[in-house]
Amino acid sequence: MSAELSGFKRFLHWGPITALSIIKCITLTTLYMNSMWWPPNISLGAFVNQAIFLMLSSLATFNYVMATITGPGLLPLKWQPQDPSVTDQLQYCKVCEGYKAPRSHHCRKCNRCIKKMDHHCPWINHCVGWANHAYFTYFLLFSIVGSLHGAVILSCAFYRGIHRYWYLSRGLVHLATVQFTVYSIIMCIFAMGLAIGVVIALGMLLYFQMKSILKNQTGIEMWIIEKAMYRRMHYPDLDEFVYPYDLGYKENLRQVFKNECVAKGVGVEWKVIEGCDQYTLTREQIAQKCEKRARTRTYKCIRKATGSFLPLFSQGFRVCLSPPCTDEPRLRLEPEDIIKVTRFRKHWLFGERVVDATELQKEGGEAIKKKPLRGWFPRRCAIELIQPSQPITSEEEDCNEPERSNNGKLDKSKKIANGNVSRRKATHQQNGHKKSN
Ligand SMILES: [Zn+2]
Ligand SMILES: [Zn+2]
Repeated sequence: MSAELSGFKRFLHWGPITALSIIKCITLTTLYMNSMWWPPNISLGAFVNQAIFLMLSSLATFNYVMATITGPGLLPLKWQPQDPSVTDQLQYCKVCEGYKAPRSHHCRKCNRCIKKMDHHCPWINHCVGWANHAYFTYFLLFSIVGSLHGAVILSCAFYRGIHRYWYLSRGLVHLATVQFTVYSIIMCIFAMGLAIGVVIALGMLLYFQMKSILKNQTGIEMWIIEKAMYRRMHYPDLDEFVYPYDLGYKENLRQVFKNECVAKGVGVEWKVIEGCDQYTLTREQIAQKCEKRARTRTYKCIRKATGSFLPLFSQGFRVCLSPPCTDEPRLRLEPEDIIKVTRFRKHWLFGERVVDATELQKEGGEAIKKKPLRGWFPRRCAIELIQPSQPITSEEEDCNEPERSNNGKLDKSKKIANGNVSRRKATHQQNGHKKSN
């Protein structure tokens, strides 16, 4: 379980090894080229130039290491709110066997619920969340500025190096200081490419991070808000949705960048705006899950699906010409597999494959976890089953959880889902109608 990896072991993964190698490659090559282009011992300017570069590189590395070691903050297993009467307003995590605190989400990679989860970052081999959000953002900032500085030094040194003989032929010996070997010119070009790549890739990431931090939204919450707006567009009779955590940009920034980078508090209670409470967002999430469940249809695989992004040979042109425009996984299916479908395109369906107990025993939990269980597959590989009472395997059961664990509060949870229950019934009736046809 990667959530419980500690200290040094967390760095033994392709993400951190690659990220640290890139940082070190840019830093060492830049220092080497700088020692020929503008050595720090020739003037105060040269000294300051190198000192700034070293500082940026060290700060990037420090914040990177801290983001990885600190981690996002794991919600304790079997977590329960202090007040048991609010459990019907919270989602339940079957894996962690506890309730999800407001703003917590379960990460499939870490296999734990993460406090104020933003996203799982393979480069730090951990999630970005409540406790390490500031470190992560500072890492992005210092990497971008440091790489930009490195790229300028490398380009200047490169220019001087390739014009060395031109300078010498004109007697400009003081400009002909950069001398390339085959290896050093390759390293210089390679490090320049890396530095520019880092500036572009992390620059985009930082732009999106700052956009969401200024609104006090995580990546996941942006998605929830989008769905909330979408629901209200389709069902105008629903109450207006107000995002509870947008406290104005100054306070929003303070929520992530405190005086120290380590977040204060316990990461389960949040400041909210007037008219909202701690559970405003979780109630909306529960309603969305219930609605998703009402939309869910059961399909049975009748033709093998290869899991390919462009299954030209197995599925033909029409399927390949209208692929879902997303990098979400594609499902590999065998005939007789059962799939819970939640999204529908003309030629493609998105769903979760139901894993039965015998398969679990046969293959072992680990083997199953490695295959994508959720993803897209060609519509022609499966047919719809009209069996509304199929067991649900995914976390979508959340909307049923309060009903099961708190019989007394059944009515309240139904109220939360308001229109959804009746819509669910309608879907089932519709299904029944189809069946009779
Ligand atoms: Zn969990
Ligand atoms: Zn994670």
